Amino acid sequence: MALIVHKYGGTSMGSTERIRNVAKRVAKWARAGHQMVVVPSAMSGETNRLLGLAKELAPAKPADAYHRELDMLAATGEQASSALLAIALQSEGVQSVSYAGWQVPIRTNSAYTKARIESIEDDRVRADLQAGKVVIVTGFQGVDEDDNITTLGRGGSDTSAVAVAAALKAQECLIYTDVDGVYTTDPRVVPEARRLQTVSFEEMLEMASMGSKVLQIRSVEFAGKYKVPLRVLSSFTPWDIDLDEESKSGTLITFEEDEQMEQAIVSGIAFNRDEAKISVLGVPDKPGIAYQILGAVADANIEVDVIIQNVSKDGRTDFSFTVHRNDYAKTIDLLKEKVLPGLGVQEVVGDAKICKVSIVGIGMRSHVGVASKMFRCLSEEGINIQMISTSEIKTSVVLDEKYMELAVRALHRVFDLDQPAAA
Ligand code: ASP
Ligand code: MG
Repeated sequence: MALIVHKYGGTSMGSTERIRNVAKRVAKWARAGHQMVVVPSAMSGETNRLLGLAKELAPAKPADAYHRELDMLAATGEQASSALLAIALQSEGVQSVSYAGWQVPIRTNSAYTKARIESIEDDRVRADLQAGKVVIVTGFQGVDEDDNITTLGRGGSDTSAVAVAAALKAQECLIYTDVDGVYTTDPRVVPEARRLQTVSFEEMLEMASMGSKVLQIRSVEFAGKYKVPLRVLSSFTPWDIDLDEESKSGTLITFEEDEQMEQAIVSGIAFNRDEAKISVLGVPDKPGIAYQILGAVADANIEVDVIIQNVSKDGRTDFSFTVHRNDYAKTIDLLKEKVLPGLGVQEVVGDAKICKVSIVGIGMRSHVGVASKMFRCLSEEGINIQMISTSEIKTSVVLDEKYMELAVRALHRVFDLDQPAAA
């Protein structure tokens, strides 16, 4: 018998029939003797629907007061699904109670629409578990120190579940979703993509940040920090499959490089089209220049990803970096208006039609020639690389977006990701 946290995504909670299935599955775990805490998302489409309504009525200049109300509003989606799940469990003959984030409470900071969890009080939940109840805790939300309701950002229920699991020191946090695990790459792009039985926390972090949208990235960070054993698995298996089989299915996110793990050098290919490239040409090459350009960008709350500075020639250098595509126009304007006039820069150019493709694997730490294999593969496909960046366990390239799928398929093949890992 163990304390287990389940998290169910919006699709899994998408109708009363599906909620009934979730209840039956949770009841199966509870009857096997486990203490169960369940964190559901809102029913699919509900958060979008609510935020859409707000948008229709939004003031011309949205201020903090507006964002406060967005959280007040969006949090109701999870409140509804949680109550429905508790009711469905009661119908299964299982005692159950649901709590909104503020009732637990889950304390967050006051950053509306993207709040961070600061602490979770576990007394109430523990008392209910002790009394034999299944406890449902709303995902996606908390409460700040002034008792304002906050939400954690889109996809935030994953983070709620992991945080609850950490606070309760759960044996495992199972994330039930509409895919059956973490894949070597997106199967919609590469049909031969394979499900990974295990993936290390570091790799998952790289994949999650690279647009493999299985888990909210913050949940992975949280799991890493508090060493929460995390499993991603399908909510579409029949609810009455054998519990042992179910508890071994999906993908386990691991913390150690143990012998059992699949020993592939590259574990997955991540990609996204969310970025845009900006180059500042003819920057005077002197101390403080990088800070003057990127400091201003950071001060405007714009996140920068790949950064490249060239060797200088005749006292001038070129500087390139990528930002989220949504920030592209804003960044160009900011540079042109506020930063560059003082610097004597020759030109700012940019391209929003790029993509980033990365190979990810902890095996890259101990193997040489992995990046060059990637570059050879791309050259054989005739794909030009525009930027390169590397970390210990990842090599990323920026390419013209029209080559994204070709690059991903070719790399998937070259690194043998469609072959089951050797035992
Ligand atoms: N319901 C929220 C969203 O749609 C949170 C979540 O599902 O994780 O983003
Ligand atoms: Mg999600």
